[in-house]
Amino acid sequence: MSNLSFYGGVDEIGGNKIQVSSRESSFFFDFGLAFSRANTYLSEFLQPRKANGILDFVALELLPCLKGIYREDYLRHVGLSHTREPAVDGVLISHSHVDHVSLVHHLREDLPLHLSQGSYLILRALEETGSSSFSEYLQLKKSFQLQPKKRGEGYTRRTIPVDREINLTRPYQEFQVGDFTIQAAPVDHSLPGASAYLAENDDGMLVYTGDLRFHGQHPELTHQFVEKARKAQPTTLICEGTRINSTGNTSEEDIQRKAQEVVDHYPGLVVVNYPVRDLDRLLTFHRVACNTDRQLVVSLKQAYILDLFQGSDYPELGEVLVYQPKKGWGMVSEESYACRDEEWVCARDLDPEISQRDYQTWEREYLDQDYTINYQDLQEYPEDYIFRCDFFELKELIDIKPERGVYLKSMTEPFDEQMEVNEEKVKSWLRLFNLPLLRGFHASGHASGGEILDMIRRINPEEVYPIHTEGKEQFKVLEEDGIKVKYPTLSKGGLS
Ligand SMILES: [Zn+2]
Repeated sequence: MSNLSFYGGVDEIGGNKIQVSSRESSFFFDFGLAFSRANTYLSEFLQPRKANGILDFVALELLPCLKGIYREDYLRHVGLSHTREPAVDGVLISHSHVDHVSLVHHLREDLPLHLSQGSYLILRALEETGSSSFSEYLQLKKSFQLQPKKRGEGYTRRTIPVDREINLTRPYQEFQVGDFTIQAAPVDHSLPGASAYLAENDDGMLVYTGDLRFHGQHPELTHQFVEKARKAQPTTLICEGTRINSTGNTSEEDIQRKAQEVVDHYPGLVVVNYPVRDLDRLLTFHRVACNTDRQLVVSLKQAYILDLFQGSDYPELGEVLVYQPKKGWGMVSEESYACRDEEWVCARDLDPEISQRDYQTWEREYLDQDYTINYQDLQEYPEDYIFRCDFFELKELIDIKPERGVYLKSMTEPFDEQMEVNEEKVKSWLRLFNLPLLRGFHASGHASGGEILDMIRRINPEEVYPIHTEGKEQFKVLEEDGIKVKYPTLSKGGLS
């Protein structure tokens, strides 16, 4: 059997970094950030420094100590050596959730990334619209470079953009990584593009689930994967167990039905918060809006994601409206003014370019469109809209002044201290605007405990490794079915 090293995802939810090595070659399944570990040390304004290359991440044990996988600029900048060839043959990304992908930023650009089209588009959105300083997923910006000044003597600082080596996978089309023949298997999860993997070499067949569920908009994908995996007769299954201790599921259909009932009862604005990259949920609330004579209004960021996915199952811009928030000078309506030649002039009478300057280049595309609205529209015709409003957008309520409306929480419940603190803040905002908070509009991205165990029995591997779980003991029952349950142990690597 090939050798497995787990650098994350062991007794924790997320942080998957699993190295598979044969005698000839090796690759990673995912290269994600361990949230819980990161949150132990970090907060919004206490972040690792780029100035230290990979070393802050290594000191906090967020990155494993491994030779030959990290980017040259980060290594050489702090006096570490760089190997000419990558020490591994590739990274197979299961999906673009941060806990599976975000540490790719630190990997060298000649280490090939294999991922689906959907995962690629989500990474593009993260890279182009995100504010994190560690989001070079598709294009690396080589840092700590000097170039001669154009005029005069001496050098100036610069960054050099370099594209990563990217391979877009197609469902069940084989490709080669070292001596492994790989197939990507699309599965249902809470964002587009999620894949499981089948990897075969002379040692046997290895299957990795990534994150999956059977109750989203496309359960047939996960069922197809289970069938293919069963037929492949795997030696080893690496299986997620996020909800191994949970029974039952709320489905997207349940959410739709329940939300429609609620929306019918409120004459005012319906405010909803769901995860920005969960396009299944966007689809659900788009349907709720259509069935209740309203329109769904989303943020500029979600408009950008939706735009990338045009031509697929998701609604077009126009079917969904885009909210223009106040930024910078906030000249979105005739209620604001700027001083010109010592005279205060209404925004309406100013060159639109002046107000557009408050927005980033990618955002400007979505301003001044027929489908773009602002707080005044929501204030005047609250009964016409469902407004997606995330935590950082709560301030918009000050302008919108909603009356007789409702807030639907379509997110996971808090699972750490920071989330609990933020939840209290949400409640305060909602009290301030007399918006009742209703829960129960969330569907998990993960299969229930019973479904996970049934899936493993059906695939019937010789051995299973529970990962991405805090309940590995629950897998032990599978031994009664003759499936060996192996608990992974955390490796740290040994870079010197
Ligand atoms: Zn996930």
